[in-house]
Amino acid sequence: MSYISIIFLFYFYASFKNHTMANKTDWAQAIQPLIKKYKGKKHPLEYKNIYQLLVMVVLSAQDSDRHINSLAPELFKAFPNMEALSNATPETLFPLVGKVRNFGNKTKWLSAIAKQIKKDKDIPLTMEELVALPGIGRKSANVIIREASEKAEGVMVDLHVVRVAQRLGIATSADPKKIEQQIMEVIPPEDWGEVGMAISFLGRETCRPSHPQHEECVMNSVCEYYRKQTKSGK
Ligand code: SF4
Repeated sequence: MSYISIIFLFYFYASFKNHTMANKTDWAQAIQPLIKKYKGKKHPLEYKNIYQLLVMVVLSAQDSDRHINSLAPELFKAFPNMEALSNATPETLFPLVGKVRNFGNKTKWLSAIAKQIKKDKDIPLTMEELVALPGIGRKSANVIIREASEKAEGVMVDLHVVRVAQRLGIATSADPKKIEQQIMEVIPPEDWGEVGMAISFLGRETCRPSHPQHEECVMNSVCEYYRKQTKSGK
């Protein structure tokens, strides 16, 4: 066998081994340190009850949690519950949420939700009922279900999860729906409620879009992105 053939075989074996290792990650086990780190950590939206959470989740889509936290006290002073919100008009809401991105649609949705639900105690907490409300998709529903300590029916996938899940290698798609499915396939249902927020917190604190802090990351021993970076010497 020639010298070149031996080198070729060596590289073929090394890349096959790396590929196999990545595919063989036992995510149900590998994710545990991350879940342990963030288990029960409250969502960054500073809500005081499920009514406030629902309103803030709707307002925060494509806006920042920080911005919504800053306007929440005034908003909830004026509209302390669903009943009060059901009487809101665009004129009364505009001064309070007029700077929120896409506020026109969001105020329409909130108004419709309040008119439909009427009382805080009637806020639904199942996936089917939540996603039937205007302005609430699976991401928002998963957040509400988790914060209400109800049984998870899916995995929360926000922009942080989209980035970090692909870096980790637990998901291969850039589509939030597919990422949720892929995570649900490898993580047992009892961890669905925590895994999404845990990955999201990792993305907010450690795995930022630029300069991810690999060395201090609890997932660096199984992370595909880090493995590739280390291999390429970056
Ligand atoms: S090891 Fe690096 S790339 Fe991987 S999840 Fe952690 S911070 Fe992100």
